[in-house]
Amino acid sequence: MEHNLVLYNTLTRKKEKFVPIHPNLVGMYVCGPTVYSDVHLGNCRTFVSFDLIFRYLVHLGYKVRYVRNITDAGHLEGDNDEGDDKFAKKAKLEKLEPMEIVQKYTLGFHDVLRMFNTIPPSIEPTATGHISEQIEMVQEIMKNGFAYEVNGTVYFDVDKYVKEYNYTILTNRNLEDMLNNTRELGGQDEKKGRLDFALWIKAKPEHIMRWPSPWGVGFPGWHIECSAMSRKYLGDQFDIHGGGMDLAATHHTNEIAQSEACNHTTPAKYWMHTNMLTVNGARMSKSAGNGFLPGELFTGNHPLLNRGYSPMAVRFFMLQAHYRSTLDFSNEALDAADKGYKRLMSAIALLDKIAVSGKSNFGNLEEIKARSYAAMDDDFNSPVLIAELFEVVRIINSLYDGKLTITAADLEALKGYVSDFVFDILGLKDDQVGDVDNMDGLMQILIGIRNEAKKNKDFVTSDSIREKLTEIGIQLKDSKEGTLWNKI
Ligand SMILES: [Zn+2]
Repeated sequence: MEHNLVLYNTLTRKKEKFVPIHPNLVGMYVCGPTVYSDVHLGNCRTFVSFDLIFRYLVHLGYKVRYVRNITDAGHLEGDNDEGDDKFAKKAKLEKLEPMEIVQKYTLGFHDVLRMFNTIPPSIEPTATGHISEQIEMVQEIMKNGFAYEVNGTVYFDVDKYVKEYNYTILTNRNLEDMLNNTRELGGQDEKKGRLDFALWIKAKPEHIMRWPSPWGVGFPGWHIECSAMSRKYLGDQFDIHGGGMDLAATHHTNEIAQSEACNHTTPAKYWMHTNMLTVNGARMSKSAGNGFLPGELFTGNHPLLNRGYSPMAVRFFMLQAHYRSTLDFSNEALDAADKGYKRLMSAIALLDKIAVSGKSNFGNLEEIKARSYAAMDDDFNSPVLIAELFEVVRIINSLYDGKLTITAADLEALKGYVSDFVFDILGLKDDQVGDVDNMDGLMQILIGIRNEAKKNKDFVTSDSIREKLTEIGIQLKDSKEGTLWNKI
């Protein structure tokens, strides 16, 4: 099938046809989490969105190298080289080593993303594992004349850079406005220009995470890690660079500047940004008290939530909105998504129970498929795809009821379609399946105890097990093959 994938490029502010730099290969870099606290839902949305993008590119047959970093050093509280080190501050608070903080929250991050059924990236490099690459890059930027050292700290020279390059290319802002809006913070007396940012920061004596460098003992600035690691694993130029839209103005703008100042070429061909989350229409934030964590959303253990939702229902909810639209969390919207997700999974479970017929009259699967691909080819438009899937749900239910008919070959094709679009591309799975597996193990234990009781002529116990199971909707059936169970 001929594909015409278009995606919205922040760099050009329009949808463009996707043409990878090297045929059939895609290099994709996504800014990962700063692992100093529990991953928040906004980040999860970003990573679920790029999981969808990754899955679709793989489905189309591209060999994708997906790099998503772990920021485990160098991230100060403010974006302008000011404030405490995030890891050191949390370490003090939790009475742990900074690297214990890193380990704890990296594991938590992986657990949550696994629950959301995201595929791990091909490479997940850490900032602390790439200090020498970052130092090397800073040296090259200095050699090219775009950075200067003051008292053990190295700053990027934005004034020099703007003479040759467009510093505001990503967000199309006016440089004058940017200058006027920049607060005077963080090494301001050392910086030559107000927009200059640190590439390498001199460590204060109490700073634990520190490394030797040509400029003395210090640590990398936050932005340099992504430029250094994307270059190392994807080359000077690669296809897609992504992240949350809050990263575009500073972090990504500085990444582009660093890479151009070092490699004399723009790092990524397409820049993709995911939109933010809101709760009942207001921006989700810790300070507003409406920032619940993924775990709280799964258990319902938060004052704003009426109940908990399964990770798959939440994933489905996220995919019902386009990644560039805001996504509003409310109990009503989550309930509706949960219902929709269950309707979809219930219909899919019926596929194995449909009686085949000599002819099909359910519609044209090729047309449904074409519309589904068209949705995904249009900047990964998952909500349009999901609307198409509900048309398929209607068809499956009618086939099961015998109101429509399908041949064996068409049923196989329909199953293939569901497998491709629901499981492979949207990355959904039936979250009941795991329960049934555990349930069967549990039932085998109960059946064993009942058989043991029967053997010992303890019919009070054996009958009691059977009756109590019937009460909760489970039927036991003794047969030649042993005792079978099913839900009534
Ligand atoms: Zn980054």
